[in-house]
Amino acid sequence: MIFLMIATVKAATVLGIQGFLVDVEVDLSRGLPSFEIVGLPDVAVRESRQRVRAALKNSGFEFPLQRVTVNLAPGDLRKVGSAFDLAIALGILAAGGVVEPEKLTGVLAIGELSLDGGIRGVAGVLPMVTAAVPGGVSRALVPADNEQEAGMADDIDIGVVNHLRDAVEVLQGIGQLVRPRPVQFDTEPTMHNDLLEVRGQLSARRALEIAAAGRHNLLLVGPPGCGKTLLARCLPSILPPLSIDEAIEVAQIYSVAKGGQAPLRLSLNRPFRSPHHSSTVAGMIGGGIQPLPGEVTLAHHGVLFLDEAGEFRRRVLDVLRQPLEDGVVSLVRHGYSVTYPSVCQLVLAANPCPCGFLGSTAKDCICSGRDVASYRRRLSGPLLDRVDLQVWMGALESRDYLTEGEPSQAVRERVYNAWQHARANGVPQDTNTVPNVSKEGLAVLAGAVRKFQLSARAVTRTQRVARTIACLSQADTIQADHIAEALTYRLAL
Ligand SMILES: [Zn+2]
Repeated sequence: MIFLMIATVKAATVLGIQGFLVDVEVDLSRGLPSFEIVGLPDVAVRESRQRVRAALKNSGFEFPLQRVTVNLAPGDLRKVGSAFDLAIALGILAAGGVVEPEKLTGVLAIGELSLDGGIRGVAGVLPMVTAAVPGGVSRALVPADNEQEAGMADDIDIGVVNHLRDAVEVLQGIGQLVRPRPVQFDTEPTMHNDLLEVRGQLSARRALEIAAAGRHNLLLVGPPGCGKTLLARCLPSILPPLSIDEAIEVAQIYSVAKGGQAPLRLSLNRPFRSPHHSSTVAGMIGGGIQPLPGEVTLAHHGVLFLDEAGEFRRRVLDVLRQPLEDGVVSLVRHGYSVTYPSVCQLVLAANPCPCGFLGSTAKDCICSGRDVASYRRRLSGPLLDRVDLQVWMGALESRDYLTEGEPSQAVRERVYNAWQHARANGVPQDTNTVPNVSKEGLAVLAGAVRKFQLSARAVTRTQRVARTIACLSQADTIQADHIAEALTYRLAL
């Protein structure tokens, strides 16, 4: 009997946050024993040889004493990570007749092997299984570490495997397929602060509500201790939850970013990211030798909060402009490019000057005019052009400590109603379409253009904010008082 000593199984890789199927073809032929992997493998794939060899041996299988050639196709697709181990090991066993090669038809195998044959979780399983169904895969074997995310995929038979032997037994028809537990999304808001904790600062609270209602970017300027950080941290608590589609998109990002072995938390809470001011360009928009998503992507559909915004490097602030404008980050690496989504709401908190007390009644500012100018230059310019709402927060006064703020839940309801109103009226969230402004409203706006010499961009910003204010009061037309209020949320920085 002649064995056709060749077997094919599917594996997958990730570029950006998208999964791509890879054919793992294994050929055994006569000759001096050797083990080659071809098809653009990176370092991790080459290391996989050692792991696969040891895992097979330590699971009680013989490593073939033949020429073993593994081809990862298509060859021009960049392949990263250790997720190919399981597919390579199963391919070798099938080529050697331990598993019938037909049993691998339509099977996607994902997982890193440990030397004893255990199967470890890998990054990007959700995008991988998402790519599987259109690629003709009907069954996927995934590591137990990744069962939650794999369980989100529809129309595919998912088997959870802990050990190479489990996978082999499933394919031999001896073992039972272990299905993932049902997917559960966290719905309880967890880590965020509540507006109940915020004292005073009525106008900044109002600005936060408008920002939430229109997904506007927001700048809070004020002296240390006035509550900027606390207020910003309350924003997620007044944002309506993610839709299921948005939650899946967010989960794809974290599936790629978190590294694989920690279980992915599936949540309907909007992401809130607060990178330190020492952040680098790569940390902010993504990058590295094996590109990973940056903060602006980890904040997708949520909030990116830059505390002490004036302390960030100018370059780091500047690179945010494009992703905020376009909703995507494109990174070009040697010979290939990746794209990450970055639809997020930016909140900046800053002191008015390096010492923090410019314009304060509590303490005198000790900064020179030049210090203040250079500090503000870093903040201002093109990035601030994308910040619709800019508010000044004064120092707290003693009477503020006696008042208790309205809880987040009440505010969230108004924000939710404003979203509904905007949707019902076909208000596009992020475009510059000219909204429906009343005659009186237009008169107020024209007056402001003359008085404050508003630029065309400033007029657009004012109209956008006024439209959100109108939505918050369930109005169909933008009235004079909506425009007037919108005009108060601008600072001459
Ligand atoms: Zn100062």
